[in-house]
Amino acid sequence: MQYISTRGNKEEKRSTQAIIMGLASDKGLYVPTEIPKLHMDFGHMVGTAYKDIAFKVMRGFLPEFDEDELRRCTDGAYDEKFDTPKIAPLVNTEQASFLELYHGRTAAFKDMALSILPYLLLSSIRKEQEDKKVVILTATSGDTGKAALEGFADVSGTEIFVFYPAHGVSEIQKRQMVTQRGANTHVYAIEGNFDDAQTGVKRIFNDGDFAVKLAGEDYRLSSANSINIGRLIPQVAYYFYAYIQLLDAGKIASGDKINVVVPTGNFGNILAAFYAKQMGLPIHKLICASNENRVLTDFINDGVYDANRQFHLTSSPSMDILISSNLERLLWHLSGENSAEIAGYMRDLERTGIYTVSDTIRSNMSDFYGGTARMDEAHEAIRRLWHGEQYLIDTHTAVAYSVYLDYRAKTGDDTPAVIASTASAYKFADQVADCIGLPKAADGFASIEALHEATGVPVPPGLKGLRDKKILHSDTIKIDEMANVIASAL
Ligand SMILES: *Cc1c(COP(=O)(O)O)cnc(C)c1O
Repeated sequence: MQYISTRGNKEEKRSTQAIIMGLASDKGLYVPTEIPKLHMDFGHMVGTAYKDIAFKVMRGFLPEFDEDELRRCTDGAYDEKFDTPKIAPLVNTEQASFLELYHGRTAAFKDMALSILPYLLLSSIRKEQEDKKVVILTATSGDTGKAALEGFADVSGTEIFVFYPAHGVSEIQKRQMVTQRGANTHVYAIEGNFDDAQTGVKRIFNDGDFAVKLAGEDYRLSSANSINIGRLIPQVAYYFYAYIQLLDAGKIASGDKINVVVPTGNFGNILAAFYAKQMGLPIHKLICASNENRVLTDFINDGVYDANRQFHLTSSPSMDILISSNLERLLWHLSGENSAEIAGYMRDLERTGIYTVSDTIRSNMSDFYGGTARMDEAHEAIRRLWHGEQYLIDTHTAVAYSVYLDYRAKTGDDTPAVIASTASAYKFADQVADCIGLPKAADGFASIEALHEATGVPVPPGLKGLRDKKILHSDTIKIDEMANVIASAL
């Protein structure tokens, strides 16, 4: 099993090469030529540690890694950095089960993959005998940035650059990033939104002159965004883990189907669920939840991807995205691996902001359901779940929960559902506190305290003391300065 580009460059790469490169040279994304099947006896897996499930799931995707090597990666990643030995506990409520993916260092689900990506990358570098220093470029809608910084800070042989939208992240998210320590960390606010940051990063990747110049200086570019296949593979594991926990809780019998609901932005998390299904996990529907930036809902319903629309800043900033990168991978799989077709869609998207997919893709998309929840609906979901069941969710997870309740009311489908709970409520403490009726606090940090006092829910260790940490990164730059700041920092 190898990796090839979604856009037609037929050259097959080893998993280690794909992880080092991040993005293919024709601007496509690396996809596995074959999705490995995993024959898992779920009943026997009950009680198995997260890292052992992760090992089993990831193995098929990483044929170049030998057993000991991959074990070192999973053991190193999924340890006491997480604030619960379960790593990703499943919490059952009346209507659905929440898979809490936010128990890592930065209190968002990006830690699930970014705790292990540095290990995968360093192993890949060793195996490929790469002698250049790896420069990791990261565009972030808020959570990837901090998780990547934590993962790569002071990792030898790497430099990490993070670009976040100056006005598009929460106060807590911003503070987490600008207080990052580590001699190899570089953090910039950009004047623009996430799509601008991501486009800027992709442009630098595809700027041949810049790459040659860096190579001359002994650097090579890579990415910590979910365009890197090394980000996606680890995410497949937690869907298996959720299934096993549902079994353990007596909510399903082995082999029963489940629904999966994902609050979606760049389409990485839900794509991982799609891969889990292809591997053999019994999933019925993949429910893709969007906020007011409902480009994916419309796409799933109509087959037309139209990014020419108003961009909304919402209370779920990590989903404020109009160019959803990983959809390209799904389309490649659903088109029958037709890379010429995919290259055509992506050209249309770049030139006109819009593309319409074939009937083949549309009919292969029937496992997906797309739904939208507006801010008021998501906030109502937070309020109800707290007041009804004393369970606290964040603004992103609330979009998913709200879409799910709507889906269930409309379809009557009561297949047990797992909702990907993507962040701690404390990362968006202002809004969550407001949702459950607390008075407005002086700032985000005071909101954390008030929310804790009112709910008793523990504050994630990584957010404690954040207010008093020293600010180490304070530059704001324009989009077209991104390449320059990288060059001069190096
Ligand atoms: C990144 C993020 C999302 C969106 O995930 P994608 O994989 O980009 O679709 C949703 N919620 C939170 C809290 C996030 O950080």
